[in-house]
Amino acid sequence: MASDTDGRQAEQTVHAGGRWSAAASGATRDIIDPADARPFAVVAEGDERDADAAVEAARRAFDEGTWPGTPVAERAALLRRVADLLVRDREELGLLESRDAGKTVEEGRVDVDCVADAFRYFADLVVGEGAGRVVDAGSDTVHSVVVHEPVGVCALITPWNYPLLQASWKIAPALAAGNTFIVKPSEITPLTTVALVELLAEAGLPDGVANLVTGPGHSVGARLAAHPAVDLVSFTGGLVSGTKVAEAAAPGVKKVALELGGKNPNVVFADACATEEGFDTAVDQALNAAFIHSGQVCSAGSRLIVEESVRERFVAELARRAALIRLGRGTEDGVKCGPLVSERQRERTEEYVASALAEGAVLRTGGRRPEPSEARPATGYFYEPTVLDRCHRGMRVVREEVFGPVLTVETFRTEDEAVALANDTEYGLAGAVWTADAGRARRVAGRLRHGTVWINDFHPYLPQAEWGGFGKSGVGRELGPAGLAEYRETKHIYQNLAPRPVRWFAG
Ligand code: NAD
Repeated sequence: MASDTDGRQAEQTVHAGGRWSAAASGATRDIIDPADARPFAVVAEGDERDADAAVEAARRAFDEGTWPGTPVAERAALLRRVADLLVRDREELGLLESRDAGKTVEEGRVDVDCVADAFRYFADLVVGEGAGRVVDAGSDTVHSVVVHEPVGVCALITPWNYPLLQASWKIAPALAAGNTFIVKPSEITPLTTVALVELLAEAGLPDGVANLVTGPGHSVGARLAAHPAVDLVSFTGGLVSGTKVAEAAAPGVKKVALELGGKNPNVVFADACATEEGFDTAVDQALNAAFIHSGQVCSAGSRLIVEESVRERFVAELARRAALIRLGRGTEDGVKCGPLVSERQRERTEEYVASALAEGAVLRTGGRRPEPSEARPATGYFYEPTVLDRCHRGMRVVREEVFGPVLTVETFRTEDEAVALANDTEYGLAGAVWTADAGRARRVAGRLRHGTVWINDFHPYLPQAEWGGFGKSGVGRELGPAGLAEYRETKHIYQNLAPRPVRWFAG
């Protein structure tokens, strides 16, 4: 049994009411390094009993504790302390995220920076607000004000691709608004969430405000979503699980926020490639859009929609550069793409590529497991960046989220055709348009039915701008003022300063 630095035993990853414990059943789960398929940590495999205990603690902390009524300035100060602690532990957390999720350490560090920014953003946001919005009731004897209050107990359920970041986009606004919560990370990547909950305690968060249960979705996640004492469920993950969460939460009429998948178009007009510099930039960013974190990104630009006249040159150069991407363990120097998170995820990717080829797609590069090397153990879940040309909307690989390093290529001849293709998806998370024509850029951006649209860029987001999807990419928003509003109830307080009988029923 390994022991953590603070005395917590490794498998004591259930946190309820300020106490760390093992799972009620005593069950544990090995955490696997996807670069070599070896276990490198062990956590508690919680179940419904652990979920119940955590909800009870969160409920008590909300109903009887001090946090919901703590002055906003104090809550903000705590969030800023958390940001400082994240910066202090940047190297350790970046490394942990790399080993857990397979991403490069550099990406892990960037995630930590983004997370610290999000904590600071929500601290600034709540401090900058007034105490409520006074409403003109049309009378000198009435004082009417609209105020915001915490929702209550929040269940926060997160995926494996950006474990620390997704947890923080929920935890920071939930705390800023004065809620208590139970976080349930993905069962395969829980380690940085455990570390974050430890940092919250170190920053001085009262016991019971932050609770954590590690364990599977079908037991812990499903119980949290259905639990009658939970007021809000915020879920990030796949469409199938998200639909189940919404169903489980419906009988309790809970607030539900869903951040689901995407099938994101990257639209490239020929005019963006008219100069060598423009061409180089558009190709470079198309690579980044599709292959960062081996394509395991909800907003991955996995559909390249390129103008027919530049298709051949663009795809040839893209495929050439994709073949040069250095694959390997995320902790190795010079590695640009890590493995997929699990064998299951790699097999899924292989099935999608096989189905695309059977449906007529043309393989331009990749489409296989790479040769092992010193940086790339044979047991790791590696898969080569793959470019599939001559794709069309009839193919599964174009319609469904692969969540692997697979880029499909479709072409268009007119602006209308480009927009129609880009919007022809049940999802609507993000998309980009590349063009040198400013008018066209604004026109196309205005017509894309996606929650984030980039013009001549791909992937950046800002904590002050909302993130979320149209269509089946979800319900609600994270980040920005709307990301805080998710965690609040709105109350209208109407005060009559000179009450008198109404006499409606007087004879
Ligand atoms: P997933 O849906 O399998 O799991 C997500 C979380 O839900 C995990 O913690 C899991 O244990 C839990 N879960 C599973 N079934 C559940 C159930 N019935 N009830 C309650 N909880 C349940 O997703 P994943 O494979 O971990 O992550 C990949 C997915 O996440 C992709 O579809 C990706 O697009 C999406 N994602 C979306 C965003 C976004 O911002 N929109 C961000 C990151 C990931």
